[in-house]
Amino acid sequence: MANDQKSTTNNRTRIGYGWDSHEFKRGIPLKIGGVTLPHPKGLGGHSDGDVLLHALTDALLGAVAAPDIGSLFSPSDPQWKGADSAVFLREALKRVRAAGYAVTNVDSTLILVAPKIGPHAAAIRAHVAELLGIPLDCVGLKAKTPEGMRTDNAAIAHIVVLLEKVRTKGGRPQSRKPKK
Ligand SMILES: [Zn+2]
Repeated sequence: MANDQKSTTNNRTRIGYGWDSHEFKRGIPLKIGGVTLPHPKGLGGHSDGDVLLHALTDALLGAVAAPDIGSLFSPSDPQWKGADSAVFLREALKRVRAAGYAVTNVDSTLILVAPKIGPHAAAIRAHVAELLGIPLDCVGLKAKTPEGMRTDNAAIAHIVVLLEKVRTKGGRPQSRKPKK
């Protein structure tokens, strides 16, 4: 497409969407949004299994059309075993900034049977806001139980992010002059 390159560098806003799921396993800590929650089971798999941070990382990467989390941090690479998922998020943020964007807001939905997220929602939102460097009221978090989905031993996360252009790709601040 002739206009492809232009369209990826000049958009004022970008949207990103991420999805992830992990299986509960006994005897490992449960981390969601970078917060350790009291629960007899944690989420197994890639790194520390932080389903929310993985979905968020993919949403940020997708918003700037970067490769996804599995391509950048292969699940089969032993260096990511047990890794803090904030490492992946920081790389995604670096790519967002390099493309000239800043995060405006995120909205997320967690789908899991247990534990109840309500009592921990404020802590998770605060931590995600801090990781992203955005205000608390720019981080949405809902939790649902998986009615009729037969996913009782899994945690699922959906998340959307909105990015806003803060400067052009080469590093020059974006002109704030009104259009003539
Ligand atoms: Zn994951």
